[in-house]
Amino acid sequence: MGKIRNDIILIVCLVFLIIGAFVWWIIAGLGHTDDLYVNIYTRDKSYASETYDLDDFEMPEDGIILYSVPLMEDKTINITGKQSDMEIVIKNGKAYVEESGCPGQDCVEMGSISKYGQAIICLPNLIYITIGNQVSIDD
Ligand SMILES: [Zn+2]
Repeated sequence: MGKIRNDIILIVCLVFLIIGAFVWWIIAGLGHTDDLYVNIYTRDKSYASETYDLDDFEMPEDGIILYSVPLMEDKTINITGKQSDMEIVIKNGKAYVEESGCPGQDCVEMGSISKYGQAIICLPNLIYITIGNQVSIDD
C-alpha cells in the first residue's frame, strides 16, 4: 500500500512540475520583448487636412514608415513633423515623446508605450508611433 501511495505522490509532483514549467514558458513568452520594434509613421507630406481628424490617421498601413527601431535599444530620435520638431526617446524598453513643439502637447502627455499595439499619435505633426513587428523601410 505504501509503495502505491509513494507512486501517487511522485506522479502528483511530476504533474505539478510539468504545469509549472508550462506556466513559466507562457509567462516568459509574454515577457519576451526582444523582437518588438518602435515604428514611426507619418502621412504624405502633401496631406492637406487642417482638422487633424483622428480617424484619418488611425491606420499605420496608410502612413509612410520613417523609423523601425528595436524597443530594447536605447535611442533618441529627432524628427521634423508637419508643424514642429519632435524628440522621441526609447529607453529601458519604453518609447515616449520627450519634447514636441506641437500645440496641445497631447503626444507628450500620452506618456510611454511598451506593449505590442500601443501607440502615441501627434496629430498636428502627423506622426504615429506604435509598437509592433519590424517594418522594412524602402528607400
Ligand atoms: Zn504632439
